[in-house]
Amino acid sequence: MNGIGVIAVTARGRAAAERLVAAWPGEARHVTAERPADALRAAFTECGAVVSFLAIGATVRVLAPLLADKTADTPVVCVDEATQHAVAVLGGHHGANDLAHRVSEVLGSRPVVTTASDAVSVTPLDSYGDDAGLTIEDRGPLAAVGAAVLSGEAVRIEGAGEWPLPPLPDNVAPAVPADRAAAVVRVSDRTGEAAAPGVPTLTYRPPSLVVGVGAARGVSAGEVGRLVDQTLRDEGLAPGSVRGVATVDLKADEEGILAAARERGWEVTCYPAADLSGMEVPNPSETVRAEVGTPSVAEAAALRCAAEAGRGGGAVAGAGEGVRGSDIGAELVAAKRKSDNATAAVARLAPRGRLAVVGLGPGARDLATPRAVAELRRASVVVGLDQYLDQVRDLLRPGTRVVASGLGQEEERARTAVEEARTGAAVALIGSGDAGVYAMASPALDFAGADIDVVGVPGITAAVSASNLLGAPLGHDHAYISLSDLHTPWEAIERRLRAAAEGDFTVCFYNPRSKKRDWQLTRALEILAEHRPPDTPVGHVRQASREGERATMSTLDRMLAGGVDDVDMFTVVIVGSSASRTVAGRFVTPRGYRWSG
Ligand code: SAH
Repeated sequence: MNGIGVIAVTARGRAAAERLVAAWPGEARHVTAERPADALRAAFTECGAVVSFLAIGATVRVLAPLLADKTADTPVVCVDEATQHAVAVLGGHHGANDLAHRVSEVLGSRPVVTTASDAVSVTPLDSYGDDAGLTIEDRGPLAAVGAAVLSGEAVRIEGAGEWPLPPLPDNVAPAVPADRAAAVVRVSDRTGEAAAPGVPTLTYRPPSLVVGVGAARGVSAGEVGRLVDQTLRDEGLAPGSVRGVATVDLKADEEGILAAARERGWEVTCYPAADLSGMEVPNPSETVRAEVGTPSVAEAAALRCAAEAGRGGGAVAGAGEGVRGSDIGAELVAAKRKSDNATAAVARLAPRGRLAVVGLGPGARDLATPRAVAELRRASVVVGLDQYLDQVRDLLRPGTRVVASGLGQEEERARTAVEEARTGAAVALIGSGDAGVYAMASPALDFAGADIDVVGVPGITAAVSASNLLGAPLGHDHAYISLSDLHTPWEAIERRLRAAAEGDFTVCFYNPRSKKRDWQLTRALEILAEHRPPDTPVGHVRQASREGERATMSTLDRMLAGGVDDVDMFTVVIVGSSASRTVAGRFVTPRGYRWSG
């Protein structure tokens, strides 16, 4: 018997076991026997993997006589009573490490993995691509393929290239010849692709297909379902890759279509006839046009829906007449077929790449958000400035392609990231602080079209990390001003400085001073000094949360009397408003509310 056997004896253990069984229906089951040791032995011999809520010592003692071969023994994970730890005890490399992670996701425990660290940071196959909508066709070969991947054997990968998937280590490559592969990972919406005998092959179904359906009023669900199933079967297309059904909105309440889709777990999307009539299709019909206002329902709706979900995303909206699928990233893979009362067609989409614009925070690892770290580990290509990449290299999963560049090549870096995403890849473009504050997000989004998905991950920007070291200077309205006049004329900067001075904003200066730009900060402080007292607090922080961090409190007049000398490009300068004060050495800008009376 396959599946996961769960063993528990105490009440708390049983409650946790039930949570696993509920989380993995059809996969996990509670194995019981009169004596717990018998249940454990039975699970070990009968199941594909075991989760034991007995102590590690007890588990190992019971199983010891049954252990034979580390590559063949059933993987075992032990979880403590308080569900704090899920320990991969046996068969780490062929399933237990992954299982410890899966258990932890359900129970909120911490996975404990004691095999080599490179192996654990490899993208786990059991959740590979799940956020891009990939599903595993048959989990059977998972353990064997996972073992081949983790043990560095030559594994062939097919069809993954165009999907925004996380990286796999270098031993997993499209170039591995089929006849030399120890295992195969296949991303495909086609059925009937035979696996070589004896080579474990793991098939993922990408959400790449849309079934277009048309029907006469009153059609039965059985008829629609049969036509759709037959169409997929005849064309060798996997039902597991169908992301949904599309039709014209006149059919939004056509119970036969809705029920057939519901039975198969597919969503139905409906389009106004006007949105379909412009699509160029192989089998238009004037009779259909006269009835519903578009010459094609099944083919046009399938293409349109596939385009929207795929690379055509933005282009398809507002497209006029004569729109070809190929123009909007969709292709018809099954032309219209008819039964007595229904029509069906299938379109395939070109997957959208994914660009994550990730702010790493000011420097310290614990000031990068968990989400930023997750995005780095999700990307197969990471683009950034070499100094930031060095900060995070140890976090990247094996197989990640790193595109590093030097200072000043911002436009090129942004363009590279977007172009990589356009090929369908999962790309992370990284920057320090927040990637949208005086950083890479704007040039990247200037290049990015509607054909890719863009995800922004916020980071703690320099002004915020500096303000926390200084006290509470940002307690009321404040402005960020970059003093770099490399790409902005100084007159424009000065106009904003005057406005901020007159508006009595607390001001944070980024890019305050460099060897070549040595007068701008003094000029800026002079402008502010025209509007606020000489003892206005000024704080500056160099290398916030990095090695050599230094936070200094000063005042406007002291800064103007030579205090700017220790300010450089690794420093952020915060000038208080006229209400800011120094309290016990800390920079405080009072909130504007009247707290009392
Ligand atoms: N995206 C970054 C800002 C880039 S502009 C962010 O959100 O923080 C570069 C300027 O940011 C530097 O010249 C400096 O003024 C400031 N800066 C960035 N990191 C800093 C740090 N750790 N400590 C102090 N200032 C920093």
